[in-house]
Amino acid sequence: MPDLLPGAENFPRTAVLSEQVHRVLGLNPSAFTGPGTNTYLLGAPGGTPLLMDTGVGLPEYLDLLKAHLAREGFRPLTRILLTHVHGDHIGGVADVLGEFPGIPVHKFPWPERDRAYDLSLEPIVDGQLFTGDGYTLRAVHTPGHAQDHICYYLKEERALFTGDVILGVGTTVIPQDGGNLTHYLDTLRKLQTLDLARIYPGHGPVIDTPREKIAEYLAHRLQREQQILSELSGGRHTVEEMVRSIYREYPERLYAAAGQSVLSHLDKLESEGRVAREHGDPPRFTLLD
Ligand SMILES: [Zn+2]
Repeated sequence: MPDLLPGAENFPRTAVLSEQVHRVLGLNPSAFTGPGTNTYLLGAPGGTPLLMDTGVGLPEYLDLLKAHLAREGFRPLTRILLTHVHGDHIGGVADVLGEFPGIPVHKFPWPERDRAYDLSLEPIVDGQLFTGDGYTLRAVHTPGHAQDHICYYLKEERALFTGDVILGVGTTVIPQDGGNLTHYLDTLRKLQTLDLARIYPGHGPVIDTPREKIAEYLAHRLQREQQILSELSGGRHTVEEMVRSIYREYPERLYAAAGQSVLSHLDKLESEGRVAREHGDPPRFTLLD
């Protein structure tokens, strides 16, 4: 029997993706997480692996992780690396530490958000290296989706673990709380400078066309910006009016997420002095020239 998660058809709960990369699913499928959060084990069976991200904190995830470690002949975990503070990536840390007490947990600091988790975290700096049997990982600071976001570059495979910066399914959200579209676009351009053969995303399947995918992500945002500028060239608008026009062919249940996306563009355009916000409820936006 294939080991598949209901609601995430054709997406296996665990997978051996290369000699030193295994994927263990967080078992939290939803409209926002696709088949659920991917967590990754780095290292060869027989060795001492590290775990990247921990899912949202479901007990069945810990069982799945333990079963996979045993089945593949891994020794106990040596450390945890986190991509960012969002709950579907950091939420399982306490459970994993319960099973592997005392191992270090590394994360780029975001003190205001980190303190919600009451964890002892080792601060990561941009460029920091993590090495083990068969792998050399380099931390790459990639703000935009979240200000603490780290991607990890795996030298041996020229592969990038992208967390929520590039996804195998769905679209990256730029939240009002801690997200920043200007930083996100800078991050995508920074990733374009890496020598990449593969992307291991935080949600969805492996991406084997990394250059095309990053170019597609950039083009998508620039196209959306053009649509917003074009809407505003016809007069002043609220976010909702722009969403109803730009996303008119999409179901209304997506409009809240679309509003967040439009607002992230307006924040960027306002910071560039290209758009003005008239404060009100709701605020209206006008084009500046
Ligand atoms: Zn996230």
